[in-house]
Amino acid sequence: MITANSFFRDMFGHKMYKASISLNVTCPNRDGSKGTGGCIFCSEGGSGEFAARNCDPVAKQIEEAIGRVSSKAGKEAGYIAYFQSFTNTYCSPDYLAECLLEASSCEGIEAVSIATRPDCLGPEILSVLEQQAKRMPLFVELGLQTANDDTAKLINRCYDTDEYIKAVAVLKSIGANVITHIIFGLPGESREMMMDTVRLCAETGSDGYKFTCLYVLKNTPLERLFLDKEVEILEMEEYFDIVEEAVGLLPENAVIHRFTGDGPKKSLIAPLWTMNKRQVINYINRRFGL
Ligand code: SF4
Repeated sequence: MITANSFFRDMFGHKMYKASISLNVTCPNRDGSKGTGGCIFCSEGGSGEFAARNCDPVAKQIEEAIGRVSSKAGKEAGYIAYFQSFTNTYCSPDYLAECLLEASSCEGIEAVSIATRPDCLGPEILSVLEQQAKRMPLFVELGLQTANDDTAKLINRCYDTDEYIKAVAVLKSIGANVITHIIFGLPGESREMMMDTVRLCAETGSDGYKFTCLYVLKNTPLERLFLDKEVEILEMEEYFDIVEEAVGLLPENAVIHRFTGDGPKKSLIAPLWTMNKRQVINYINRRFGL
């Protein structure tokens, strides 16, 4: 297992920080083309709670994001332009190309990371991404969450796992580094089902992973399931037991970009242990020897 920090240090020679950007995009299972209402856990912000909340030009958003961390980051640090909210390839190829070029031209930006879905990678979008991968390192983050298609239906993911498998192959063929998002603790999933997801991702050749425990946010369909006691939320130890087992199934060169997520405090309902960020970080460092 390799942590994101050591991976980025090896790749860029220094610490990397993310500059989060919002694009003028939505998501195919929010706007009705695939579904409505979004994934049951997803907030109105489209899983990008910490991204800049505006539609300012990309360069302005990056400048502001870098400004917020630059005193902590120091002069040596580099930045990744992180297209975080919603589905960032669910737009016209020209718009995406323009935004990527603008981001890549900003001072301090040494890489780009794009969060998207496997079913939003048509030929023209892939060609734009291929151009970008030639410019600078490109990370594409795929929100898989689970490899189980029944669970996928339950969470309203609105695409089949086969599409993920094909997307990983094609993204790797154009030079992108693929990061897969996986959620542990989805409704109805046993530990074995969660490990099946991890095994499948390892077999597809996903380069990196972002794990998170299922968390419940206000005003999401999951909130109703939680209030009706139809979903159980993992305790901290239980969750990290699962993460440890998952890491053990991955190849040694797999990069763990995130051990767990933390929902926005103002709308988080559960699990409350994720709110104590310092305690969680200390626990991760101790448990995984970081
Ligand atoms: S695909 Fe992503 S942005 Fe769209 S509803 Fe699901 S989690 Fe939210």
